[in-house]
Amino acid sequence: MKKLKILLIGAHPDDPDGCGGGTALKYVARGHEVRFLSVSDGRAGHFSMPPDELAARRRKEADAVANLIGITYDVWDIPDGEVEANLENRRRMVRYIREFSPDLVITHRNNDYHADHRNTALLVQDASYLLTVPNYCSDTPIMPSMPVIAFFSDRFKEPPFRAEVLVPIDEVVDKKYEVLRCHESQYFEWLPFNRGTLDTVPEGAEARAEWFRTPRIPRDRVLLPEDLNIGATPSNHPEYRMARSAVLYREVLRAQYGDAADRVLFAEAFQISEYGRQPKKEELSELFAL
Ligand SMILES: [Zn+2]
Repeated sequence: MKKLKILLIGAHPDDPDGCGGGTALKYVARGHEVRFLSVSDGRAGHFSMPPDELAARRRKEADAVANLIGITYDVWDIPDGEVEANLENRRRMVRYIREFSPDLVITHRNNDYHADHRNTALLVQDASYLLTVPNYCSDTPIMPSMPVIAFFSDRFKEPPFRAEVLVPIDEVVDKKYEVLRCHESQYFEWLPFNRGTLDTVPEGAEARAEWFRTPRIPRDRVLLPEDLNIGATPSNHPEYRMARSAVLYREVLRAQYGDAADRVLFAEAFQISEYGRQPKKEELSELFAL
């Protein structure tokens, strides 16, 4: 089996993990090389911690993930909330991707609620063609061929996300929770605060681990859209997002796995970008560790 190099690029420390952490764990288990990049330093998202302190804490949280699963987790020094798709950052992105030379890059889509997500997506898009152009950033060798580029799933509708590959993650979901728990300042502080649910978060590592693991949805049958209240206010627990992909894109799962698709509870969904190399259908299962 060919050893693949997979690069997950998010705008903030926790985006690669939250959007594609289960898939990343499957790659690691199969011996592939995975790298996470956060384009910003995550200094903005908190209600009481000052920016410098928060950026240092987010760096440590990313390091904890890297140690836990054995990957490289890079965090750039661009201030959170100020990611720009400018020429300096384009050159930095081109050099960064060329140096790692991944088979697959996964990032946000260009339409997204957060300016940092949009600009990160745009940076990857702007970098993509230039990865193979020798006279651009000629100090860094070009990639021999274009990588496949894919997008994390999201709920935005103009235009809507198009699920093309579903990665079932039931076998790694508990480990994904461990990964997400490394981002303490996000999952137990900022995100609940931002959604007005901070008072529901328990204190202490053990209680939080338990709170995180407690099932929110039925796990003994095929889930239906109404189980998730799709269309209503989304829950902030990651279980809903992972279950939502399996429910909403069940037909894609069935095309991949037949009847076995109905036993999948949690999945991560991806869309193939038209700006990267276009993989053949039969290549997808190797490329996405299915
Ligand atoms: Zn983000």
